[in-house]
Amino acid sequence: MFAQFGPAGNPDAFYEAGFKSSADMPKWLAGLTLNAYEYQCSRGVNIKQSTAELVGQEAARYGVKLSIHAPYYISLATEDEATASNTERHFLRSLEVAKWMGADRIVFHIGGSGKGIDRRQALERAKRSFAKVLEQAEQAGLAGPNLLPETMGKQNQLGSLDEVLELCKMAEWVRPAVDFGHLHAVTGGQYTTSQEFAAVFDKIGEVLGEEAAKQLHIHFSPIEFTKGGEKRHWSFGDPFGPPHEPLLAVIADRGYTPRIICESAGTQAKDAKTMQVFYQKLLKKDFSV
Ligand SMILES: [Zn+2]
Repeated sequence: MFAQFGPAGNPDAFYEAGFKSSADMPKWLAGLTLNAYEYQCSRGVNIKQSTAELVGQEAARYGVKLSIHAPYYISLATEDEATASNTERHFLRSLEVAKWMGADRIVFHIGGSGKGIDRRQALERAKRSFAKVLEQAEQAGLAGPNLLPETMGKQNQLGSLDEVLELCKMAEWVRPAVDFGHLHAVTGGQYTTSQEFAAVFDKIGEVLGEEAAKQLHIHFSPIEFTKGGEKRHWSFGDPFGPPHEPLLAVIADRGYTPRIICESAGTQAKDAKTMQVFYQKLLKKDFSV
């Protein structure tokens, strides 16, 4: 078993090659020997059951691991009742689609930290709402795929590594998604060295066990930031960090097998391939034969 690499959503090159349907993505990715795909429900869960099933069948056929990005509208710490009930619905709908597709991971954003309230209180509220979501999912028979709170790139969003790990402690099927570009942006430029990357894996290992660190779900892209954190995703070759090489060095060195989803702007498959090639060089293995 090796680290898996793939894009978030469909890259520009996929559309430029004349494809339209996400059901064509697994085959297209297999052509690049990429083996992971994160299907984007970030603007809402709108996919039809038949399409979702087709994406799942194609992914299984081409050996592509599937994850889903849940809607950005999830807001677990909200005080607004309508937003809270929509948040529950977004979770349940994402779980339903994951079931149709056979996706084993659903990444989500915890949401804003709220105005005028203490961050700790906001996190406690997020945890209470999340406990309800977990219970509802179990009652609806939708538990199964892992739910993955993601580390966030803006100061005013819940989702520091510690906050993510607190949610992960709530259930065995809640695991972390670490976006290293976000960590880089939210800390004003940290997370550029092997030591800094290694510290993230170490902490996850301490809190959730070695297996959680080993199989980590990773988002990676160069990100421009301001004082408030994340501003914009860029591509490899643009002058923004963090660098991918020291991260892959830690992964190869420790024999970890994470799933690495590239979120570069438009070039996410190409950049995922760049990372995979570098990782393979580190392992001194040729995976294309
Ligand atoms: Zn995300």
